[in-house]
Amino acid sequence: MLKKEYSKDLSKLNTFGMKVTARYFSEYDSLADLLDLDFEELARPVKHIGGGSNLLFTGDFPGTLLHSAIRFTEVLSESPDEVLVSVGAGVVFDDFCAWAASKGLWGAENLSLIPGEVGASAVQNIGAYGVEVKDIIRTAYCYDTQEEEMVRFEVSDCAYGYRDSFFKHAEGRYIVTHVVFALQKGYSPQLDYGNIRAAMGLGVDAPVPADLTPGQVRDAIIRIRREKLPEPGKVGSAGSFFKNPVVPRSKYEEVCASVPAEVKVPHYEVGELVKIPAGWLIEQCGWKGKRSGNAGVWDKQALVLVNATGQALPEEIVRLENKIIVSVRERFGIELSPEVEHL
Ligand SMILES: Cc1cc2nc3c(=O)[nH]c(=O)nc-3n(C[C@H](O)[C@H](O)[C@H](O)COP(=O)(O)OP(=O)(O)OC[C@H]3O[C@@H](n4cnc5c(N)ncnc54)[C@H](O)[C@@H]3O)c2cc1C
Repeated sequence: MLKKEYSKDLSKLNTFGMKVTARYFSEYDSLADLLDLDFEELARPVKHIGGGSNLLFTGDFPGTLLHSAIRFTEVLSESPDEVLVSVGAGVVFDDFCAWAASKGLWGAENLSLIPGEVGASAVQNIGAYGVEVKDIIRTAYCYDTQEEEMVRFEVSDCAYGYRDSFFKHAEGRYIVTHVVFALQKGYSPQLDYGNIRAAMGLGVDAPVPADLTPGQVRDAIIRIRREKLPEPGKVGSAGSFFKNPVVPRSKYEEVCASVPAEVKVPHYEVGELVKIPAGWLIEQCGWKGKRSGNAGVWDKQALVLVNATGQALPEEIVRLENKIIVSVRERFGIELSPEVEHL
């Protein structure tokens, strides 16, 4: 079925909770309905959305928003080691993680509770706790809106990088319809990232219990995330708002010299360059937990901007974003850029 709505209220379709509308909104629940859409006829701009958890609507959307309600989870094949599962783009990603854990299959557990849908996961290459979704994607099936045909991309075709993919640079040409994931039957927990071991009551060098299940790892991840991040539906946000800047080593050394000697600047080597967590830079500028009108910076993680009162207007979030960019530029000479897509 193809649902069409005019002046669609988007407040429940973006996790920031921006009270905006879309001129047209179309939701399809089958491939046949998607193929029936006449893309030439749609009011422009045309944008496909998922759960709206990486988007900031900066005002009413003047064109057509598309949304997939293709929801199925189907086991395609099973070998002694792995299970191939095909999942519709409109399935909530965490429902897929819960399904995998309930079947005792490994691979998706560290990605538990990341908001959004399966289609967008393949576009964003979502990641958390040492795992990226590319690690379990085998094939992404898409509708090519230019050639008007179905196409399939093996994981090696998708040019996956950090929160990046080939799809992100194709300007909306490809609509992900379903994704085939490869899940492992064998024991393969990834616990050596962040505080997963601590959350599971395991010491740094303690052996991992042989009877550990993906469900137990999933529960630990959910506990950690609930402590650290705002819960969508309760506090509006789009998760990490800024990208972590990657700077020349000389800039990193300048940052080190600008803070008291006892302060260690967190950083990761990226070849010749150095990545500095944007959340740390923002915190150093005194923004953590601060409010600006109805917008704010999350008190447990400065990288997350929030709709603090539930009443924030898009321009209040954008104003706060700009103030933070200016602070970090003035204090450290580093230019932050948003991770969240502005529409
Ligand atoms: C509290 C919170 C915590 C978060 N934590 C993490 C985290 O740990 N790791 C992480 O990686 N991300 C995280 N995010 C960001 C977000 O969850 C991901 O980017 C997610 O993949 C977005 O999914 P979505 O369905 O909401 O997509 P949307 O935000 O609606 O769209 C994202 C992009 O995907 C495109 N898109 C959506 N569906 C399709 C489709 N079917 N075909 C083609 N293109 C499509 C859209 O056009 C858009 O460009 C977090 C967000 C929040 C709010």
